[in-house]
Amino acid sequence: MPIDPHSIRQRFPLLTRQVHGKPLVYLDNAATTQKPEGVLEAMDHYYRALNSNIHRGVYTLAQEATDRYEEVRQAVARFLHAPAAHEIIFTRGTTESINLVAQSFGQRYLREGDEVVVSVMEHHSNIVPWQLACQRSGARLKVLGIDGQGRLDMDALDAILGERTRLLALTQVSNVTGRIHPVREIIRKAHALDIPVLIDGAQSAPHLAVDVQELDCDFFAFSGHKAYGPMGIGVLYGKERWLEEMPPWQGGGEMIDRVTFEETTYNELPYKFEAGTPAVAEALGLKAALDFMEAVGMPGLHALETELMAHAWKKLEGFPGMRLYSAVEDNAGVISFLLDGIHPYDLGTLLDRFGIAVRTGHHCAQPLMDHWGVPGTVRLSVAAYNTTEEIDIFAEALEKCAAILA
Ligand code: PLP
Repeated sequence: MPIDPHSIRQRFPLLTRQVHGKPLVYLDNAATTQKPEGVLEAMDHYYRALNSNIHRGVYTLAQEATDRYEEVRQAVARFLHAPAAHEIIFTRGTTESINLVAQSFGQRYLREGDEVVVSVMEHHSNIVPWQLACQRSGARLKVLGIDGQGRLDMDALDAILGERTRLLALTQVSNVTGRIHPVREIIRKAHALDIPVLIDGAQSAPHLAVDVQELDCDFFAFSGHKAYGPMGIGVLYGKERWLEEMPPWQGGGEMIDRVTFEETTYNELPYKFEAGTPAVAEALGLKAALDFMEAVGMPGLHALETELMAHAWKKLEGFPGMRLYSAVEDNAGVISFLLDGIHPYDLGTLLDRFGIAVRTGHHCAQPLMDHWGVPGTVRLSVAAYNTTEEIDIFAEALEKCAAILA
């Protein structure tokens, strides 16, 4: 049965609000999604009925909270089709997940003269942690280019991966263009050279069914808040063989086995990488978000968004002065564009007067903006609750804004 975004919307209380006297049209989902009732209720319930510090208490409350928290780990493992729950590490988000790998994997494996490869269209959080790791180790960062359609340059990939490459770190879906990259094929190529691959899944996990075993990626990172869950919780999946070899990256409670002033031994996976009190309410909220996505069904959700994108594309394609920086095919719900002679900030600010929330600027991808030679773009990005009516409202408002700003 086709999924109805109107019925999905009803589960999202924030979507009923108005902005400047107009119904909110929220099209900035690549930045963060709104939250369904189930997520709000799960977090509320935690503080009303379960709050206690986990993994330590012998009393009922702490045991219940610990059980619920560990159930989330199991649920995330199922969501990503990870082989084992201890390969799931909770972090604050994609940024922290990548920083964890850059620091820990970097410390263990990166040496002077080694290379780390990223692409030109990475989010800053999949660039800067690697720059820092390279600075610490004396390794070099190499950059894979793209073609005019925003596709990764697969010929250049063969040339760029080499004997000194220690890791390839790529986004599965660009947060600027929405392009879905053929990461499975890329991972195969890298593995043929024994190069591990980290996938930034911040923009893929909310839109596509992810199977880390099928992808065979070595690491996969995503953020709860971009996938209908709360801010402050994220995930790093890592293959056990790497995680076992990697040193802890933060010290503190929970990550230890035994501490003396002479020597400390570390806890087993995944706790070795989870120092301090975790975000328990946020984890439970994340579980509710995964439940929501699984109830809709990831293939259905992607089909819904693809239809919406086709509708948006038709509206934007022929628009006077339109410069599109996305393509409609292989797109996970993002369109970046500019209108000739109109600054993206002016357009974004004026669209807000019509109740429309879109993102303007460099989208934390300044190297990509430099590559294109633009200061920024306007970006609309959809979620399961967006409707074709909202796209129509957006297109009408865009016409009015263009007339005012021209
Ligand atoms: N990677 C991509 C592709 C993103 O789009 C984002 C956020 O926009 C991030 C990483 C960083 O995510 P977070 O800020 O949730 O850590």
